[in-house]
Amino acid sequence: MGTATSESATAGTVRYWDYLPGYHRYREEYLACCDEVFSSGRLILGSQVERFEREFADWCGVPWGVGVNSATDALFLSFKALDIGPGAEVITVSNTAVPTVAAIRATGATPVFVDVEEETSLMDVGCLEKLITPATRCIVPVHLFGQAVDMAPLLALAGEHGLRVVEDCAQAAGACYREIRVGGMGDIGAFSFYPTKVLGAFGDGGMAITASDDLHRRLKRLRMYGMEGGYYAEEEGYNSRLDEIQAALLLRGLGRVEEQVTRRREIAAMYGTGLAGIDGLGLPSARPGRTHQYYVYTVRTRFRDRLQAFLAEQRVETRINYPTPIHLMRGYAFLGLKPGALPVTERLAGAILSLPMHPFLTNQDVERVVEAVRRFFRQL
Ligand SMILES: *Cc1c(COP(=O)(O)O)cnc(C)c1O
Repeated sequence: MGTATSESATAGTVRYWDYLPGYHRYREEYLACCDEVFSSGRLILGSQVERFEREFADWCGVPWGVGVNSATDALFLSFKALDIGPGAEVITVSNTAVPTVAAIRATGATPVFVDVEEETSLMDVGCLEKLITPATRCIVPVHLFGQAVDMAPLLALAGEHGLRVVEDCAQAAGACYREIRVGGMGDIGAFSFYPTKVLGAFGDGGMAITASDDLHRRLKRLRMYGMEGGYYAEEEGYNSRLDEIQAALLLRGLGRVEEQVTRRREIAAMYGTGLAGIDGLGLPSARPGRTHQYYVYTVRTRFRDRLQAFLAEQRVETRINYPTPIHLMRGYAFLGLKPGALPVTERLAGAILSLPMHPFLTNQDVERVVEAVRRFFRQL
């Protein structure tokens, strides 16, 4: 992949994320692909979705994939397929995208939050056991930022207590834990193809993957009104399908995802070298035995808000993933959790900042970000 030639969409600004350079590079191919689908006579649940389900699941090392509308739905339908509903407790983290928790709530189950590790921002697996009650049914590890949660002790604990595991893989498609890709370790893995994700569609999309024939069958009928064929519902179902057009575009994307992740890792390495040794700045790192997809590149500093404002002046876009832990949001106040409930999660929320990251950043873009961050710390 070219590293130093593609131009920024907004000249002068280093974009946090941008799909347009990729679109312009492969435009002819994308347009031909749209024409192929539009001319095929089949727009819903046809050969493109089938092929993408097969190829994506295969890439993840799992036999079955069910294309759905989003990761939110992949999570929700996974819980339904596992008969998780009112009265059940589902353990997850509070420093995730709201949809992780929204999907749990949509089933009527209760989310229970576990704190995270200081170093990785990932679920602190060592804190899980004391949260398990007779009502606990499921653990939802979130492979945040592109790196896998420490799955071996989590799976051992789930096995001991008879708990289900649904992996939230929305940020980490393709990430490995001890050579196993995320999504294939728990009962079901939920993926997002929201445009910004490691593998992004041109709209919404998601997938649930599983090794279980029974869960596969259940997921397929839940996404389609509870039907297995004909106009007959075997159970109460929903409508959550991946479109043929998105599946066709995602198949093209899947063919390039490894090379794009390689570029993300190159950019992360440039950031790592360029920003090393700055007092008061913490950098992300891949844990041994795990690969990092660098969906986002998140640094930490107690000067976070000032750094973000400085970078904005230098026309470097940044984001905070995420500024408010979910248990402290107004929409989830009914859960009754107060500040201090999850100390590490809350502390990190005030310190993290995500730098520009997407496969079409040029080396000059990355150098500009590095230079701007260094300048900020020099003038402190
Ligand atoms: C993006 C994301 C989701 C939701 O994905 P959608 O496809 O937008 O529903 C869920 N969990 C995490 C961790 C995410 O980053």
